[in-house]
This record gives sequence, structure tokens and C-alpha cells, in this order.
Amino acid sequence: MILRKTLSSLVLMLLYGCHLHMAKTVMNGGDLEAALPEPRAYIPDSQNLDFVYHDHEELTRFLRATSARYPNLTALYSIGKSTQGRDLWVMVVSSSPYEHMVGKPDVKYVGNIHGNEPVGREMLLHLIQYFVSSYTTDQYVKWLLDNTRIHILPTMNPDGYAVSKEGTCDGGQGRYNARGFDLNRNFPDYFKQNNKRGQPETDAVKDWISKIQFVLSGSLHGGALVASYPYDNTPNSRLLKGICRSSALCAMFQTYSAAPSLTPDDDVFKHLSLVYARNHAKMSRGVACKSATPAFENGITNGAAWYPLTGGMQDYNYVWYGCMEITLEISCCKYPPAYELKKYWEDNQLSLIKFLAEAHRGVQGFVFDPAGMPIERASLKVKGRDVGFQTTKYGEFWRILLPGYYKVEVFAEGYAPREVEFVIVEQHPTLLNVTLQPSKYFAATVTSKSTSSHTISSTTPRGPRGQVNDNVQFPTN
Ligand SMILES: [Zn+2]
Repeated sequence: MILRKTLSSLVLMLLYGCHLHMAKTVMNGGDLEAALPEPRAYIPDSQNLDFVYHDHEELTRFLRATSARYPNLTALYSIGKSTQGRDLWVMVVSSSPYEHMVGKPDVKYVGNIHGNEPVGREMLLHLIQYFVSSYTTDQYVKWLLDNTRIHILPTMNPDGYAVSKEGTCDGGQGRYNARGFDLNRNFPDYFKQNNKRGQPETDAVKDWISKIQFVLSGSLHGGALVASYPYDNTPNSRLLKGICRSSALCAMFQTYSAAPSLTPDDDVFKHLSLVYARNHAKMSRGVACKSATPAFENGITNGAAWYPLTGGMQDYNYVWYGCMEITLEISCCKYPPAYELKKYWEDNQLSLIKFLAEAHRGVQGFVFDPAGMPIERASLKVKGRDVGFQTTKYGEFWRILLPGYYKVEVFAEGYAPREVEFVIVEQHPTLLNVTLQPSKYFAATVTSKSTSSHTISSTTPRGPRGQVNDNVQFPTN
């Protein structure tokens, strides 16, 4: 009972009561990363975590023991319960596990959304173990945990897992939740009406991601070897289903419906997928799992180009919250025998770590009012990329972008909209602070043709080799 109370107050603290640690300057992570050695190979410590499958009790015990042993690096909370009442545990791993670090991104991994695809579930337990045990000895891990808050949900479908069978490479037993719903078809959809009744597991995740602004996310699956990126759905398939009567038309439909459904951030999604695939031991080779299954060039694919689906989690993360989520299919066999788990860890370790570091690429900053107070829920949209995102209650925003010139439009109720130009370089994130003027003031100054009413500063932090970049003032057009 006491434990439950402590946990629920912990959840409240994590979700609502984060103290404002106003960063004097936003820490620059990217340039540090460039100078760091690669993460070390992890030597598994079987005293703490064996390469076997852990049932829900064992998983819970491991997470509790780890959070007790590493209280300064971890925080354990539950985002809710599965249909059958199992806790959906999330472990935060960070040098600031209990508080959001203002100016630093929150990222996440979700495992085992399909109950019979548990390799990801075990990989995430090993990732937790790797992070906590190498924080003091591995510079890369220290940098990552000092600059990122990593939330790990090892199993989103513990009920499905409970009825799955080790050694079963295909099939659907355990894929669904206890009520028979496919959780990766259970989210609101951007293209189609999704009439599936919301499930407890999906509702818990929806609630979770509405409260924490995640910048980057990976969802782990099995049954293929590929990194798949949004969109998973397409506006075309339903229309064409209606004409799928003759075999010739059906063939055409299949070709057409398997056409890519690309987001305006396609370059970024491809890049993120390639980071995972190229750091993986095998994925980027693009070898088909079986002769009857597709081979993926460079080990990546657009979701809809593989097969379209409605109600998937990655499209929801991206469209609703601007969180860049991709789907990581990490084992040809959905539920391979336990003796193969060590090999899977070796194949995925570097990918799992390097992917998270991508949260430090692109633009990040704050939206302020003229008094320097943060503006919450300001809307931002990078020009040409019509999927927007919003500031947090501390006025923070992040967007992963590849090197180039960009314009961002910033809107907030009661303020005059702004358009700001900025540059992204490869070596480090661009820091961009935008000050919005109240709309009344804006109207007055426009009439008087004043040009001095908007303060916009775009600054980049120290460069990769320690040089200080000049603050750059961009025109305010
Ligand atoms: Zn799956």
C-alpha cells in the first residue's frame, strides 16, 4: 500500500510537478557527442540480468531492484495498467531521472506492443542495465544521460506476452491484448476514421505522450529486420479497395496501395532510420528474412510502402505531438529461443544508443514574451513541413532537422506571429530563442511602420572544436 502510494505520488511528480530548473544556457549536446569515443561494448553482468526471457514478475523485480540500486540515475513509474491489471512500467534513465531538465529533450523506447514480439522487451531491459552500469566508465553514456531523459517502456502489452510461446516465429497468438485488439491499430489515425474502441494500454500511452513532450521515439517489433518510418497509412487505399474486383485491377491496387506515403519530414525520418540500420550488425544489408518476404534497401522502408495500416502508433506520435517515432523490426523470428538473445543484444546495442543521440540534432530553443517569460503551447511549423509542434510549459521546443537553411513560423494566442530564419549545421544543434510581441503592440507598431519591435535572436553554441560562434541576428521580415 505504502509502495503504491509512493509510486503514485512519484508518477504525479514526474508528470505534473517537475521543478523548473531554468537553464542559464541550453546545454549543447551535439558538439560534445562529436568529440566522444563510440560507446563501449557492454559486458553483460549475469548477476543482474541474464539473457533469458523475463515474465512480468521478473521484469518488475528487475526494474525495482535497478531503481533501488541506482536511485540517482533511474526513476520507475507506471503509466497505467493492462486489461488484466499488469502495470505498464516505465523506467527513466537520466542523470536527472525525477525532473525534466529544461532545455534538454525527453526521448522514449516502447517495446512489446505486440505481445508475441518480445525481443525488444528484453533488449530494453539490457539497455537499462547497460546505461546504469556504464555511466561512470563510458563517456558517451555519461554524455547521453547528462543531456537526455530516456523513458523506457519495455512492454506495452504484458497480457499478450503472457500467452505467447517461445520459439514461435510467426502467427498471431499473443500479438493482441487480452481483449483481442491489435494495439498498433488502436490509435487515432491521420488519414482514416479509426473506429476501434480505445484499449487501456493504448489509452495509457496516449495519456503519457500528451503529458511529456517526447522529441524522438522508437517502437520495437519482431518478424522482420527493418527500420520503418511514417506514414504507415495512406490516403489512397480505401478508395482503391472499392475497385478491386478484377484480378488485373487488384494487382494495380496492390502496387498502388504499396506506394510510399511520405511525410514532409521524409529526409529526417530516412536519416533516423538509417542511423538505426547502419549501426546495427546486419540490418542495413537489407537481406530478406525469408525468400517470400521483401528485402529492404539499406534496411529501411516507408511504412505504407511496405504495407499500409490504420491506427498505428508512429503516425500518431508524429502527427499529434511532433514526436519523431520510427518502428524497429529487430528479429526475423518473432519469439526466438532465449539462447539467441545475447546475439540480438550484440546486434542492436550500438543502434539503440546512437539512435537516441539523434535527439540532439537540429534546432532547439525557447519562445518568450517580451518580459522573458516562457510562452506555453506556442505553435511552431518549419516552412515546407506542414506537421507542426508546440512549446512546453517552459516555452521549450525541439525539432530534428538535417543541415540546411530553414524558416520557422511561430504562433501563440495573443501574440503577433513571427517567422524566423535559421541555419542547421552537422556538428551541433542550433539554439534559437524567439521573442513574441503581444498582438496589440504589433498592430500599433505596424501602423507606425516601426521595424524595431521584434527581438529575434538565433544563436549557435560553441562549435565542435571549442570555437565560439558569433551570435547571429537574422532579418525579421
Ligand atoms: Zn509487431
